[in-house]
Amino acid sequence: MERIYLDYAATTGCDLEVLEAMKPYFTEKFGNASSIHSFGQEAKKGMEDARGALADFIGAKPEEIVFNSGGSEADNHAIFGVAGALQKKGNHIIASVIEHHAVLEPCKLLEKRGYQVTYIKVNNEGLVDAQEVKKAITDKTILISIMHANNEIGTVQPIAEIGKIAREKEITFHTDAVQAVGHIPVNVNELDVDLLSLAAHKFYGPKGVGALYIRKGTRVHNFLHGGDQERGRRASTSNVSGIIGLGKAIELCKEKIEQESAAQIQLRDALIKGLLAKIPRSYLNGHPTQRLPNNVNISFEYIEGESILLNLDMMGIAASTGSACTSSSLEPSHVLLAIGRTHEIAHGSLRFSMGRWTKKSDIDYVLETLPPIVDKLRKMSPLYDDRKTT
Ligand SMILES: *Cc1c(COP(=O)(O)O)cnc(C)c1O
Repeated sequence: MERIYLDYAATTGCDLEVLEAMKPYFTEKFGNASSIHSFGQEAKKGMEDARGALADFIGAKPEEIVFNSGGSEADNHAIFGVAGALQKKGNHIIASVIEHHAVLEPCKLLEKRGYQVTYIKVNNEGLVDAQEVKKAITDKTILISIMHANNEIGTVQPIAEIGKIAREKEITFHTDAVQAVGHIPVNVNELDVDLLSLAAHKFYGPKGVGALYIRKGTRVHNFLHGGDQERGRRASTSNVSGIIGLGKAIELCKEKIEQESAAQIQLRDALIKGLLAKIPRSYLNGHPTQRLPNNVNISFEYIEGESILLNLDMMGIAASTGSACTSSSLEPSHVLLAIGRTHEIAHGSLRFSMGRWTKKSDIDYVLETLPPIVDKLRKMSPLYDDRKTT
């Protein structure tokens, strides 16, 4: 059976060109980038080229890029790093309720240590209102952290507008752009951000490598201590092959992003329109247009998302109930609850995320396969029987 992968928001496969670029750095170019000898220098050269490519892509300077192990580390570094560096200035942080757990959990830990966090609510489409952020600012506010694009419902936030407010008030502004980089335009100057998180495995690079952009002059403590790699900003022997992969992945995105996102918007809207038309009592989650080009998230009343997923998997379709990080727990998604879905409906939600290798025929296959599955599961549901006529 042909398998169809529609879970690119959880992770993307590595592009073969990325893999080819990485290969020599596992074998003949294996040097430690901190070593003085020629092995070290050739590794360092590759790594600095990758840094240049990434910096260029997001409008940063190469020395403002700190390579690390991925999105979670970048988020933790930003939150704990600013909290530590600015603790004399204040103890108040602003984040949104729909942040990724890699932002929310550090915030919760800081609350236990005496910091105060204001969690900004979102509207029914998952949008943060920049004016609400502005109103939440106090003279103790040291950090604003609002994600660029949500990983579950795809809503893209007004980051530039919030950035302008943060700049005016001279407050450090972090954005988790892990879902955005490589998929929609991201420029640190247009967005007015001081810190930005990204991860290679969300844009066709390898897993376990990412970066934190740190604007020059931003005060942020280190997160990993030991060696003085990354200009003294992060200890640990550089993951050279991973960084090479990240750089190559960025170069490919630069080439392809425009055409790819236009194509994905077509597929996205065809899937949304088709599913809502074919399946009664189904609802789109997130903003209809201010959303990632590759994200579809739909709630189906009277059924469990997990049951649909298992049935889809048997038909060769890989989707998700939302966040890969929480799909093993029984808690409903904090994002779906935040946009006003009930627990019951939140449990009946699916995310389809497409990518570089998604074809129109894949979408057609989902549109053929999913409606009968939903129908079958609903017929088994006592809740649905009760209300069949409505
Ligand atoms: C995937 C993801 C993360 C975590 O990134 P890792 O590289 O898996 O640590 C953080 N934030 C968002 C929005 C994500 O989608």
